[in-house]
Amino acid sequence: MKVLDADCTKGFMQLSEDGWQHNYHERNGGNLSYRMKPEEVEAVREEFTYTREWKEIGASVPTLAGEHFMVTGSGKFFQNVTRHPEDSFCITEIDETGTKYRIVWGLVNGGRPTSEFPSHLMNHAVKKRVTDGRFRVIYHAHPVNVIALSFILPNDGIVWTRELWESMTECPIIFSEGVGVLPWMVPGGADIAVRTSELMETYNVAIWAHHGMFCAGDTFDNTFGLFHTVEKAAEILLKVLSVTKEKRQTITPENFRQLQTDPTFSSQFPVTLDEKFLYEKK
Ligand SMILES: [Zn+2]
Repeated sequence: MKVLDADCTKGFMQLSEDGWQHNYHERNGGNLSYRMKPEEVEAVREEFTYTREWKEIGASVPTLAGEHFMVTGSGKFFQNVTRHPEDSFCITEIDETGTKYRIVWGLVNGGRPTSEFPSHLMNHAVKKRVTDGRFRVIYHAHPVNVIALSFILPNDGIVWTRELWESMTECPIIFSEGVGVLPWMVPGGADIAVRTSELMETYNVAIWAHHGMFCAGDTFDNTFGLFHTVEKAAEILLKVLSVTKEKRQTITPENFRQLQTDPTFSSQFPVTLDEKFLYEKK
């Protein structure tokens, strides 16, 4: 089977196009990676070549040894992923030590995986462990409202979680574990990779203040859906804050507890919300 005919490739390209259409990517902003299933690798292996050299990852991820990742290229534009796929992303193989990678398909005109590849791989390593291998997608982009909100809210995941939950009833269901937040940091380096992977132990969303958002998920649809939900909640909150500093009414801590105790609702959408997010506001 050709790589471009595989369902996982179609999912990868669909998410990229959706992100572009939603204005999450300007120029070469953002990056996406997918940890391929063994059977997906075998199905397209006939198109792989092994002539390109092994390169240092810049991080050590021994639990990902031998895995294959589909990943966007450094400097490549998301708007071109569906238009020029073989030039825009690649499939990489991780070596047996988990310290090197080589490109086995794609980036036909040269190039390398995104500069955030070490961050992606460290996050994949965490998510593979804490979800027993279920999570396969890591997505980073620059959504307008989340970035704008990072100039207003404190760099505190508890405050962000509570404010986003209050903005839209679905939020505590979609990201019941909350969101993590990092202050501004230099992108592409080891520090931001380590700090983000620490957040990924608990959360599926990491906000990078004044930069963007990282999301992890099991499928392309769920990962993009999570990203979209957080960004939409941020847009609603920003609109409210643009009009008034004081909300006339909102979803209260007691309302959130009702989501967990209402027999009809909780039987369909069982959810556990940490009380630390349901603090009394002054
Ligand atoms: Zn970025």
